[in-house]
Amino acid sequence: MKIGVLALQGAFIEHIKMLRGLGVEAVEVRLLQDLQDLDGLIIPGGESTTIGKLAVMYDLMEPLRQFAAEKAMWGTCAGMIFMAKEIGNGSAGRDQPLLGIMDIEVERNAFGRQVDSFETGLNVAVFHNGNGSPFPAVFIRAPRLVAAKGKARVIATLDDGTAVAAQQGKWLVTSFHPELTHDARFHQYFLQLVAGSDR
Ligand code: GLN
Repeated sequence: MKIGVLALQGAFIEHIKMLRGLGVEAVEVRLLQDLQDLDGLIIPGGESTTIGKLAVMYDLMEPLRQFAAEKAMWGTCAGMIFMAKEIGNGSAGRDQPLLGIMDIEVERNAFGRQVDSFETGLNVAVFHNGNGSPFPAVFIRAPRLVAAKGKARVIATLDDGTAVAAQQGKWLVTSFHPELTHDARFHQYFLQLVAGSDR
């Protein structure tokens, strides 16, 4: 299994380290040819407007959409915004380039300035049927899921009901940064989607 991490901007090195720690071959993706031979791709957190502009500049938008049509893709934080079909009203820069593949609406920077970043324990139903220990979710100027539509389903919410992770077939999105923790359960879950064992 070989997993790519889009390495235009943002927290890509941390994802690569996490994947390698799990014994998986992981490579940085910057060019079209880097997408060849990959079984899955992670779009990291960072700044979604910058990731979008660079993806347009490097002619990666269509190749990334084609890749997602066949293979597993996981967007964390800015990556979640980039994969979304819609950015909600409250968000700045609604005309930024989006892959627009996943049937979700997101709101950027949804947690306000006072709580720019925070960590909280999250119960994730898809891990051990929700019986496992809470996942330590790190939020950094994070987006929230306003709505999961069509075939997208919410897989994790905060205590107040705010949706922060969703799945649609082989596509996964998380508002937070599992690569900044020592808990590999989300990476393992993504690898299950890549392997096609959890659709
Ligand atoms: N606030 C960033 C954005 O809107 C996302 C932050 C992150 O990826 N940690 O793109």
